[in-house]
Amino acid sequence: MTEIIVGIDLGTTNSEVAIVREGRVEVIPVVPGVRILPSLVGVADDGSLLVGEAARNQYALHPERSVRSIKRRMGEFASVQMAGKDYSPQEISAMILRRLRDIAEAHLGEPVGKVVITVPAYFSDAQRQATREAGEIAGLEVVRIINEPTAAALAYESCHSGARKALVYDLGGGTFDVSVVNLESDVVEVLSSHGNNHLGGDDFDQKLISFATDHLRERHDIDVGQHPLAMARLQHAAEAAKIILSSEPYATLSEEYLLEKDGVPIHLSVEVSRNEYEEMIEPYIAETLDAVHIALSGAGLTVADINEILLVGGATRTPLVQRRLEQELGMQPRAEVDPDLCVAMGAAIQAAVIAGGQAPTVLIDVTPYTFGTSALEYFNGQMYPFCFVPLIRKNTPIPVSRSEGFCTIFDGQSKVDIHVYQGEDPDALNNIEIGRFTIEGLRDAPAGNPLVTTFSLDVNGILEVTSREKETGLVHSITIDNAISRFTGDKLAEARERIDGLFGEQEGADRQPVATTTEASPSDDRRRLRVEAGALIEKAERLLARAGTEDAEDLVNGIEVVKNQTEGSDADLKVAMDALADLLYYLDV
Ligand code: AMP
Repeated sequence: MTEIIVGIDLGTTNSEVAIVREGRVEVIPVVPGVRILPSLVGVADDGSLLVGEAARNQYALHPERSVRSIKRRMGEFASVQMAGKDYSPQEISAMILRRLRDIAEAHLGEPVGKVVITVPAYFSDAQRQATREAGEIAGLEVVRIINEPTAAALAYESCHSGARKALVYDLGGGTFDVSVVNLESDVVEVLSSHGNNHLGGDDFDQKLISFATDHLRERHDIDVGQHPLAMARLQHAAEAAKIILSSEPYATLSEEYLLEKDGVPIHLSVEVSRNEYEEMIEPYIAETLDAVHIALSGAGLTVADINEILLVGGATRTPLVQRRLEQELGMQPRAEVDPDLCVAMGAAIQAAVIAGGQAPTVLIDVTPYTFGTSALEYFNGQMYPFCFVPLIRKNTPIPVSRSEGFCTIFDGQSKVDIHVYQGEDPDALNNIEIGRFTIEGLRDAPAGNPLVTTFSLDVNGILEVTSREKETGLVHSITIDNAISRFTGDKLAEARERIDGLFGEQEGADRQPVATTTEASPSDDRRRLRVEAGALIEKAERLLARAGTEDAEDLVNGIEVVKNQTEGSDADLKVAMDALADLLYYLDV
């Protein structure tokens, strides 16, 4: 039997303890169902020690009896005060480690004496030494201190895929680090590291808190900042709304009886859209991207040298973070290992190897395909009705549920067609359509009536797609039974048939911020036909580059005829479009 060595991620905001048992990595629950311990300690009213959630809850009311973010002070000789007593940073960290040790022992039913602890790559010798001492004070033998990006690479098993370079982007609650690592035959070397010790998901919460306090000031002429209890509740509400905005297009910041003014209770209820939220946090994300480039140049590398991006830290679940990284570095970041637990898992894997066991594999169910819908949006400088809008990206752990907001494009639009595609191409028509349905009976509203479309994929590959009219709650949905297995292999012929069918029917799809309809007014029909004609021309022009001389001539003629007819009658335009669509079909589009 191998000896027990646990792995601990001793984080600024949160900490976790993990172990490898029977070849599996297990992050040990702190309380049933929760595997994250907030890195706070405090002294309760009765003098007892609080560690974790309880300390976090009392922090806003009794900061003088609580300590948080002690990791930022590690390696300093100064002491911190808690309930009138002085403690060294090592002692405070030891309280967190001790609690994690107790949790691990209770879970395993055996004493735990050895540990691997992770630290940021930029930690100095003094900070590493202080971390070792914290372990010793907690009664643990620190068998190794490893770098957090190294642990992340171990959890992602990046080192098993041959020599490569990875960018580890770690955005936690209060800190941001980016490291460039070299992975070669199971050795992880940190080439460079950069970051900001005071940037993280908590700053995103602050933006939402300001949004709510501004709202209360305008609505009720009240300054919530003067009321610590209300601020503490607002803090929770803001974080909850932020987390919702990672998977939904809208969230409501709400707290009943938040305050009283002149004896009248004041309730908070204010909606924030993901678009508004993304505008608030964009400057923070831009700052992290600057740091990415600094880290790259520190390693003497360019974007082209990077083989993969590994996401670490809870705040990397923010869709804007993933989107901006993908835009900036031209590759989809890897996010399949739980970003909160990734570092602790890597520490446990390192611990298992030191204990003489086999390096285990982190088993995760992920979707091998991207699923999404289509909508009218700008595509190559033109409005195009079949722009692909991915909702669930390839390699996302399942089960997963993601929502996106769309709007109608016509006044009085009563129906919207929802198309469901599997694929990666920005042109939805190049992906495989795996289902469609119509949401009908929408309220009589001007263009811009919002709809929320949700894709939920379970571990059995059952995809449920739901579309809900935001204002009325009217819902339509479709269930696709084996979305993952059924559409594997070469389905191009079927896709082609569907494309042909779509062009034949002239039935458009919907795009944020607009959605098409099957029941539009005559002038809307006219406009829509022209949008579709534009899309068809676009598609034909793209094919030109690949077509042989003869086909190219036919294409140019077909395009000309459609262009000439856009000023003419709908019927003539439709005939020209059908002819061009036929041509595209025969040219094997
Ligand atoms: P960490 O320090 O890695 O545990 O990350 C904690 C930060 O991640 C906190 O600011 C959390 O509010 C944030 N976080 C956790 N889950 C999500 C989520 N789904 N979307 C956005 N931020 C999240």
